Amino acid sequence: MHLLEERIRKDGVVKAGNVLKVDSFLNHQMDIALFNEMGKEWKRLFEGIKVNKILTIEASGIGIAAIAAQYFDAPVVFAKKTMTINLDGELYTTQVESFTHQRVYNVVISKRFLTPNDHVLIIDDFLANGNAINGLMEMIKQAGATLAGVGIAIEKGFQNGGRALREKGIKLESLAVIKSMDDVKGTIEFM
Ligand code: 5GP
Repeated sequence: MHLLEERIRKDGVVKAGNVLKVDSFLNHQMDIALFNEMGKEWKRLFEGIKVNKILTIEASGIGIAAIAAQYFDAPVVFAKKTMTINLDGELYTTQVESFTHQRVYNVVISKRFLTPNDHVLIIDDFLANGNAINGLMEMIKQAGATLAGVGIAIEKGFQNGGRALREKGIKLESLAVIKSMDDVKGTIEFM
């Protein structure tokens, strides 16, 4: 998506450790006009595929998913990161290793909000190694729900998450795919 690539070029900052900072428009301050264009683009890319629920993970995915959900006329559920797991049988649970925080989170979703009737589109800000998406897919499986596809704002194509999902035959639509980036030169190349 040209608009997103241009914005990343203009305002994205490459940090050491393969981290791209986009906090001026995506995951701290949020550009809602841009989010609307992203939502429209996912709607176009997933046209004809049944979606009755959008799933994301706190915190950065929530804003993007909420704006996109308006184009799908579907509610948004976000997986919560918790310090403890409440094992009372009312929750789907899994563990996700965070790329940016380098720690493992227990992640939970109430069983009330993910059921076998759901056709779920996962939306998130970044795809790196795929841990966050794998965790969400694991809980969709626990629920007996159907995965409709995965919509990502920024895929770092030089990490393994995207390839692994495509090899599984999952419909993955990333709006910007980064081929390489260099924190010393500050350059970003797209696929
Ligand atoms: P993964 O689980 O695919 O390894 O990493 C995806 C998650 O880590 C995303 O939910 C995102 O919050 C975070 N993340 C991964 N790479 C980056 C990055 O380069 N920049 C930022 N800001 N977040 C990232």
